[in-house]
Amino acid sequence: MNAVHHHDHDQGAKLSRNQSQILSCLRKAGEPLSAYTILDRVRVSGISHPPTVYRALNELMQKGMVHRLQTRSAFIACGHGACDGKFAFAICRQCQKVVEIPLSDEDQTALLAFSPEEIDAEQVTLELAGVCQQCRPRAAV
Ligand SMILES: [Zn+2]
Ligand SMILES: [Zn+2]
Repeated sequence: MNAVHHHDHDQGAKLSRNQSQILSCLRKAGEPLSAYTILDRVRVSGISHPPTVYRALNELMQKGMVHRLQTRSAFIACGHGACDGKFAFAICRQCQKVVEIPLSDEDQTALLAFSPEEIDAEQVTLELAGVCQQCRPRAAV
């Protein structure tokens, strides 16, 4: 593969009008949003049906530009423009700040190796929860 795209905001990928509305909504938010919050925010631009939002979210997830936070049924724009799906999330449980952590192939392989014999694991979903620097009480430092 010679076509290396810069990690700028359009990735050279063609997005439909709905996809780019929803992606820019998530990028502006900078925090995880539920599908219904997204629907609320894109309503002004003429998207008014939940299935339309879900379809565009699925397409954006396939492109690696949007990720799903499994533990809170929310969606977030990829922290790096787009990625290949090897990542973990660290989440502050007080302010909901989310940081995307890229995983190396070795990390991914090591995690998949935890799978028991009867399950052939292919995918890792990893979310770390805690308190971010800003939310940490001063006295505890
Ligand atoms: Zn990503
Ligand atoms: Zn925080």
